[in-house]
This record gives sequence, C-alpha cells and structure tokens, in this order.
Amino acid sequence: MTHIELPQGWIVNPNCQTATHVVDLKIPQKQSSNYLRCKRWQDANPERKKEIANAWYQKNKEKVNQQRQEKRKQDPERYRKDARDRYRENAERYCEAERQRRKENPEKGREYARQYRKNNPEKYKEAQRKQRQKFNAKTAEYKLAHGCIDCGYKGNAVALHFDHVNGDKVKEVCKFTTWDAALKEIAKCVVRCANCHAIKTYENKQFRGWRKKLENTNGKI
Ligand SMILES: [Zn+2]
Repeated sequence: MTHIELPQGWIVNPNCQTATHVVDLKIPQKQSSNYLRCKRWQDANPERKKEIANAWYQKNKEKVNQQRQEKRKQDPERYRKDARDRYRENAERYCEAERQRRKENPEKGREYARQYRKNNPEKYKEAQRKQRQKFNAKTAEYKLAHGCIDCGYKGNAVALHFDHVNGDKVKEVCKFTTWDAALKEIAKCVVRCANCHAIKTYENKQFRGWRKKLENTNGKI
C-alpha cells in the first residue's frame, strides 16, 4: 500500500476511508424532524414527560439498576465523587427528606443508628468528639461574649459558669450535645465567674453542706 501525502487541511475520513476536507467533517449532524417534534412536545409538557419517564423507569427498574451497578463497578472512584458532588449541591433537600423519613418511622431510624454505632465504633467516637468540640467552642464563645454578670470577668471561659436564675433547671448546660437543644436551658441562665457563683450560692443558702460546716467551725474549715 502506498502512502499518499495529503495536502494541508485534508485528512482521511474515518467513516468512509476517503480523503476529506477537514471543514466538511465539522458539519453538524442534522436533527431529524421527528426528533425536533418530540423535543418541542417535551418542552411544552414537562410534567407529562416526567410521568412517562418515571413509568418507564418503574417498568424497567431492574434492568436500569443492573446497568447502573455495572457502571459503578467499572469506575467506583468516579461514582463516589459524583455522588458527593450531587449530595453537596442538594444537601438541604437530602437532609429534609432524611428528617421526614425519621419522623415517619422513628423506630427504624433508631435501629439504623444502633447498627451504625455497633459497626463503626471508631467513626462514631470521632463524630461524637467533633460534636463535643463544636459545642464547647460555642458555649465558650457565648460565655466570653457576656462575661461575669457581677464583676465583668472575661478572662477564661473555663472560669465562667452558667448560673440558673429563671425557671426550672432541666440539667446542666454542658450535659447537652447540640447548641440548639441547649439554647432553651441557656435562656434560664446568666453567666457568672466561679468566684461570684460560689459567693452567690453561699449567700442564697443553697449549698447547705458547706454552710453547716462553716457554722459548726465558726467560719473555719
Ligand atoms: Zn464574677
């Protein structure tokens, strides 16, 4: 077979194995009138289009799912990336759907959570640790922003306490796990430093053990 050198701008057309001018290859494929008619109808009836597509999916569910699984197996990394991207784009919608499902079937959700904790103890521990860190940071920020109500101390969040002054105490603020749940309890509290808290508690005669001790020893312990 002899090699024929083609002039610039010409190549061998892969479809018919003949020399073709490159510009001719770039001609877009003409869309059939049938295709255009279908598209026009689909654009005009988006709801009906969805309905038909869904009905077709329900009918061929197994086949479609099998095809999807095969695709997933071929390139699992890419599939994971796509799934992540999709989730990030619609995070709010996914979370809302999950909340709804849990509301409708709370026992199933609890069972799933139990199983997850059992199967992934390390992951669960790590998630819990992160949640606590986040919560502690939030409470510290709140305490430092307010400072002690009596003396105005703002030095270190460790030395600032939530002192219950209004309503019934359900439990200590630090026993909560999420900020939103703790907010109700925080509304009943003021921020007091450790010193002022101890003095106020003593003066309010709430700490009976210490008071008794001080009375019995004439103020010396
Ligand atoms: Zn103080």
